[in-house]
Amino acid sequence: MLVSASEMLKKAKEGKYAVGQFNINNLEWTKAILLTAQENNSPVILGVSEGAGKYMCGYHTVVGMVKGAMQDLNITVPVALHLDHGSYEGAKKVIEAGFSSVMFDGSHYGIEENVEKTKEIIRLAKEKGLSVEAEVGSIGGEEDGVVGAGEVADPAECQRIAELGVDMLAAGIGNIHGKYPANWKGLNFDVLAEIQKRTGTMPLVLHGGTGIPAEMIQKAISLGVSKINVNTECQLSFQEATRKYIEAGKDLEGKGFDPRKLLAPGFEAIKVTVKEKMELFGSVNKA
Ligand SMILES: [Zn+2]
Repeated sequence: MLVSASEMLKKAKEGKYAVGQFNINNLEWTKAILLTAQENNSPVILGVSEGAGKYMCGYHTVVGMVKGAMQDLNITVPVALHLDHGSYEGAKKVIEAGFSSVMFDGSHYGIEENVEKTKEIIRLAKEKGLSVEAEVGSIGGEEDGVVGAGEVADPAECQRIAELGVDMLAAGIGNIHGKYPANWKGLNFDVLAEIQKRTGTMPLVLHGGTGIPAEMIQKAISLGVSKINVNTECQLSFQEATRKYIEAGKDLEGKGFDPRKLLAPGFEAIKVTVKEKMELFGSVNKA
């Protein structure tokens, strides 16, 4: 059964660790992440971007696939199915389709419009028991064509959005989606500390978890980050393993062309990456 992310993040906050959000793209991603969570007795959040949701046929397909996989694989650890960077319309759609958690990203609106739209999504989500993530300020890099400048959020605006009753808050602290540039300045811990001071016990979300050094991740957790999003890193692991398989000519040997063989190394590589992140975030044995 899917659960909202509310309880698992409260526990993470108290226990000073973070729950990983791993984005899914298809059955291989879903199965790899669910199995790794179960094997490590870790809570997990499955992230779905609007683009990935569309790619997988739509949100109803995603809900059916994830629920079916959990039943067939006997997954008993807490799993939340969460819309990543949802638009106003997209957020409404997943609430109807049966997701257990939703991010409404109103960070590209002015603060007043962000507040109004976030309030409406909270109202609709709470009727069905979903947890809600909101975002303040722009986060750098690119995700599904949304470009940010690597901006840093205004702690006062963070406080305003947090007080609306969201379950978790994403705020830019110099993090970037995708690969980090060589001249990246690192996370802004002063702003992170200020945001947490103003938002009390609100679980904070760190987007763009791929390529942030381990020490910075641990420091961010110590300052109040309870959810860390990982997307690109699983894609890179899958790509590298698949490339190796094909370059070694294994797809040409015997039945190496069978998709169950062709996709197996990438599947195993995702599992390794997810396990490493769960260990780094401290969520192992916290289910
Ligand atoms: Zn993000």
